[in-house]
Amino acid sequence: NKQVVLKGYVDGTPKETDLELKQSILSSLTAPEGSSALLVKNLFLSCDPYMFRRMRQFYGSYIPPFVPGQPIEGFGVARVIDSDDPEFKPGDLISGTTRWEEYSLIRKHEQLRKIDPQLDVPLSYHLGLLGMPGFTAHAGFYEVCSPKKGETVLVSAASGAVGQLVGQLARLHGCYVVGSAGSSKKVDLLKNKLKFDEAFNYKDEPDLNAALKRYFPQGIDIYFDNVGGEMLDAALLNMRMNGRIAVCGMVSQHGHSDPRGIHNLYNLISKRVKMQGFLQSDYLNLFPKFVDHVVDHYRKGNITYIEDLSEGLESAPAAFIGLLSGKNVGKQVICVARE
Ligand code: NDP
Repeated sequence: NKQVVLKGYVDGTPKETDLELKQSILSSLTAPEGSSALLVKNLFLSCDPYMFRRMRQFYGSYIPPFVPGQPIEGFGVARVIDSDDPEFKPGDLISGTTRWEEYSLIRKHEQLRKIDPQLDVPLSYHLGLLGMPGFTAHAGFYEVCSPKKGETVLVSAASGAVGQLVGQLARLHGCYVVGSAGSSKKVDLLKNKLKFDEAFNYKDEPDLNAALKRYFPQGIDIYFDNVGGEMLDAALLNMRMNGRIAVCGMVSQHGHSDPRGIHNLYNLISKRVKMQGFLQSDYLNLFPKFVDHVVDHYRKGNITYIEDLSEGLESAPAAFIGLLSGKNVGKQVICVARE
């Protein structure tokens, strides 16, 4: 059973060499009797930025760190091989937390779902468009941003798993949407494929405040923040009266123990801006509504979805660490097996 394991806890920016491939013996292809566990064959694994935090021993987060020497955990799509839970039968396809290995023994948990074959989308989409990142976009945009038609919206890491859907939902809601991303290829995708109104490469902007003033001469009503740091600080300077900032993630901060570069918080007071952090898992009761909404738009061709598929478990460490340099174009997924 090939696995990707964490070598030891990380200090500083996570690197590819913090992970290693290991071979372990799979003792049996049946779930232990009475275990209420599922034995699954992993097909697709999701690379998500929150996992970087789990590589640290102490980081004060909402989910425990990974265990060194053990395969790392993450969202995946898998096929049930054996189960003594009547809800999951051999052959069923599931999505939920699994481990980075070929076969896993997993327990039932809150976000473990049976995949509905009627949905008829590629299996890997259950890790992005119809999975946790897509749901994050949906919950964050509608529940945290309280959007109104005609408002102006800034999305950072806009071509990524979460950002690409936030921008498209905002457009469908009648908002003016600008995305920031880290390469000209991504900017092109945002403008020409994902139908953002505008997009810019933040790495080409020596002054982010000036860039935001250019794209938002009247200011920003909603900032959907995926990155934190300097972009958040520049957005604070450009918020409109009664604006909202949804603090979704801080991918720019994974090498630091404390978020850096925030000097403009006073604007929250002067502009009466509401800034709220959120976790998608707080809104799980909305998951069925999210699936209906997104599938409907996807089928009508109103939503496009871009993913970056990396082949084989061997490619997992590079694909995962690549999130930190923006190597991924769209949602990063690892294909372990196709069936
Ligand atoms: P992405 O698919 O967007 O991948 C990460 C992207 O972040 C990279 O492609 C890169 O894009 C960008 N990035 C990396 N380093 C930096 C940096 N230093 N400064 C600016 N941008 C950087 O990831 P996801 O869509 O999966 O996640 C987006 C955010 O949402 C993350 O912060 C994540 O933690 C958060 N999240 C929060 C959840 C919640 O419940 N609150 C749930 C899921 C995700 P580029 O080339 O454009 O720089």
